[in-house]
Amino acid sequence: APAALQELLLSRITDVPDYPKPGVMFKDITPLLSDPAAFGALTDAFAELCERHRADKVVGLEARGFILAAPVAVRAGIGFVPVRKAGKLPGATLGQAYELEYGTAEIEIHADALAPGDRVLVIDDVLATGGTADASVQLIRRAGAEVAGLAVLLELGFLAGRQRLQPGLQGAPLEAL
Ligand code: AMP
Repeated sequence: APAALQELLLSRITDVPDYPKPGVMFKDITPLLSDPAAFGALTDAFAELCERHRADKVVGLEARGFILAAPVAVRAGIGFVPVRKAGKLPGATLGQAYELEYGTAEIEIHADALAPGDRVLVIDDVLATGGTADASVQLIRRAGAEVAGLAVLLELGFLAGRQRLQPGLQGAPLEAL
């Protein structure tokens, strides 16, 4: 993203030390969400990525990905599809398990939410280890669609999520604003 936009976005993200547990520096995006200029600029930037990568669906990852992705879908004039934690979607679902630091987690998508030929831009707030993003990319492909790209507000480079994601992305772009 252009330097001025990066500066605006970073100025609206707060560092919260030792949340949710000791040693974690939590990136709080709520100041950004409450600033319409910053939230609007972010939405525009994500919507431009939809255009650049010819996406015709936006997937948001629960929960903060929902907040960021929904206005992008409206702005870009394309559909929004939620990827949720297991057990939250009412219809027939496809699930994808993935490893956490301790144990495993599972995400789901409605089995009929995507069609062959759909090009999907996946949006989340923070790319940390890349586990969640990697699972969602696999899930979207299994649902029959193509991954047009993965876009996040913030990438925590020191956790090397980008490297972990590389094989699974199969050449799809990873954009960190
Ligand atoms: P990961 O699967 O490790 O990439 O973690 C990604 C998910 O956890 C994202 O949906 C983020 O919202 C959240 N997350 C991980 N680390 C942080 C952090 N330091 N600050 C805020 N959110 C985080």
